[in-house]
Amino acid sequence: MTNTVLRQQPELVELFQHTIMEKRLGHAYLFEGSRGTGKQEMARWIAQMLFCEDLQNNQPCQRCNHCHRIAAGEFPDVAEILPDGQSIKVGQVRELKSELSKSGMEGSRKVYLIHDAEKMTISASNSLLTFLEEPQSDTYLILMTTSKENILPTIRSRCQIVHFQTLNKQVLSETLIAKGVQPENAALLAAITNNQDEALELNQDETFHEAKKKVWRWFQLMMAQDPQAFLFVQMDLMEALKDKKDAQFYLDLLLLYYRDLLYTKYQNQQAVVNRKYMETYENLAVGIRHPEITRQMESILNGKKRLDANVQLQGVLENISLENTL
Ligand SMILES: [Zn+2]
Repeated sequence: MTNTVLRQQPELVELFQHTIMEKRLGHAYLFEGSRGTGKQEMARWIAQMLFCEDLQNNQPCQRCNHCHRIAAGEFPDVAEILPDGQSIKVGQVRELKSELSKSGMEGSRKVYLIHDAEKMTISASNSLLTFLEEPQSDTYLILMTTSKENILPTIRSRCQIVHFQTLNKQVLSETLIAKGVQPENAALLAAITNNQDEALELNQDETFHEAKKKVWRWFQLMMAQDPQAFLFVQMDLMEALKDKKDAQFYLDLLLLYYRDLLYTKYQNQQAVVNRKYMETYENLAVGIRHPEITRQMESILNGKKRLDANVQLQGVLENISLENTL
């Protein structure tokens, strides 16, 4: 397990090694990240760090009885809560709390792992809240979720939030190249999706390559403050967009071009995804201040929200053109 989590999240492993060594481990964490990013492995690794009988170089040994039982989810002082059916119910949280009060009296260390924390019912969340407000000294709670937005703000604000990065983009990009994707497309695809199969599918999809070209043209018109940007929506973009989902995809691509420009502006060329446009970015970066780049990106993000709220598609895109050519 150590190896898995080390490979998946080396920076977080290091971070928690220091935190635990310096006895600064917090009482409540919210681990947020997509599936497969190592949240559960990390949570159990932390539990092992606290209970291992024979730490090796500041790592759990993975050989002692405690390490084995924690890895198997069978260690009595590390309780794991999983959804009971569709939700985590208030009874499950109450049970946890009653155990907590007992353990508090005995003064023993306890770790609680709550999987799929977004599935807590409102009453379960409220019940947990009273614990978070008065944590016991030797208890540690780790909530795990794929999206922190789905956790009640009152819970969220009492946890230290740890974000788990998805699969390393560089690794995915290299894998795609090894599978025959052109390097310039590989980086872009890896920036768009974390899923290798989806990336390969997109690469075969003619509409993806068309989208790239159209959005790049749109970006350039806006950068040139060209009023044509407004007409471009109706004349060129609309015919290519089947629905709102397509439009969101176009806006994601557009944001990538802006992000590249921002990285160029900050002299972080290593982070630029569309390297073949490097020269254009560098020329553009001279003529624009970064607050302006950020403002235009906000306008696009705002457009994405309006699409979600079912505002009419063409109007949303035209509005972005207008706001970004002012
Ligand atoms: Zn051990």
